[in-house]
Amino acid sequence: HGAFDARQPFCWYSAQRDEKMHRAYRLASDAERGLQNGDFHLDYQPRFTLDGRRPVSAEALIRWNHPTLGPISPGEFIPVFERTALIDEVTNWVLDTALDQVRAWRAQGQDIPVSINLSSSYLSNASAWHDIRSKLEHRALPFSMIELEITEGEWLRPGSAAIGHIAAMAQAGITVAIDDFGSGYSNFSYLSDLPIHTVKLDKSLIDGIASSSRARAKVSAIHHLAHELGYLTVAEGVEHQAQVDVLAAMGIDEVQGYLLARPMAPAAVMQVFEQAAITPRPVRV
Ligand code: C2E
Ligand code: MG
Ligand code: MG
Ligand code: MG
Repeated sequence: HGAFDARQPFCWYSAQRDEKMHRAYRLASDAERGLQNGDFHLDYQPRFTLDGRRPVSAEALIRWNHPTLGPISPGEFIPVFERTALIDEVTNWVLDTALDQVRAWRAQGQDIPVSINLSSSYLSNASAWHDIRSKLEHRALPFSMIELEITEGEWLRPGSAAIGHIAAMAQAGITVAIDDFGSGYSNFSYLSDLPIHTVKLDKSLIDGIASSSRARAKVSAIHHLAHELGYLTVAEGVEHQAQVDVLAAMGIDEVQGYLLARPMAPAAVMQVFEQAAITPRPVRV
């Protein structure tokens, strides 16, 4: 009886893993049809200057409304797609959709630069830079209208295909941001050698800054080092005014988070930018 009990946790975990694998398999096999049927769309989360709260750009975030499973988070399906060739197809769809949106906003009178999340597996393709460049040229969009967000990792090692693409993009005037900085084993020694423009400080770093002096010290150190290296700093996942006050005192450049704006439909982004254009610049306090 005792031996049977001891095996229980193993059996339970195994069943869970089976279920997870089954769902991952399901997502991977449904993705293609989902793309064709219009089950995917992009929301956009505005980003603001901290000094004056002006909207400066918007980040494209993919959404999947599965016909039977309901809304699925990109945090779940992107890692699944990254293990297959699906990530290339989905990334190309994201790039096309976001760039078409930039053109649509332009036609309505607003220049709204867009940030696009790129998986390491996409950027490791030999044709990545060529594909991105032709999408921009095809639409006659200035390269300064897009920023590409990448996450740090092994794949960014010197000499890799990805590093070559990043250097070429930076050379062409596309801004490159390191996303989720501080969420893993962040390494400034290699970061300082990358041709990037922006460091986005992960929400997990920002969460505690209003209440913990240690959290504040960490964010302050990273922000100052990033500034010394010439990078723009962005705080992600800002939810409370008290966090904004701390970040403002530090001199962080830009902020993004539910407090300022949630991910939203393109028409709502348009309104945020139109509103800012007619609102007098607030007096600094
Ligand atoms: P990310 O690029 O770091 O995006 C920020 C995530 O934090 C988004 O979640 C956003 O909705 C959420 N967020 C923003 N502000 C707040 C806040 O104040 N509080 C909280 N709790 N959350 C906030 P989302 O949209 O679920 O995306 C999760 C991740 O999935 C993204 O993290 C990104 O890594 C990935 N992802 C999303 N869209 C794409 C895409 O088109 N391509 C690729 N390769 N990855 C994507
Ligand atoms: Mg991002
Ligand atoms: Mg992030
Ligand atoms: Mg992320």
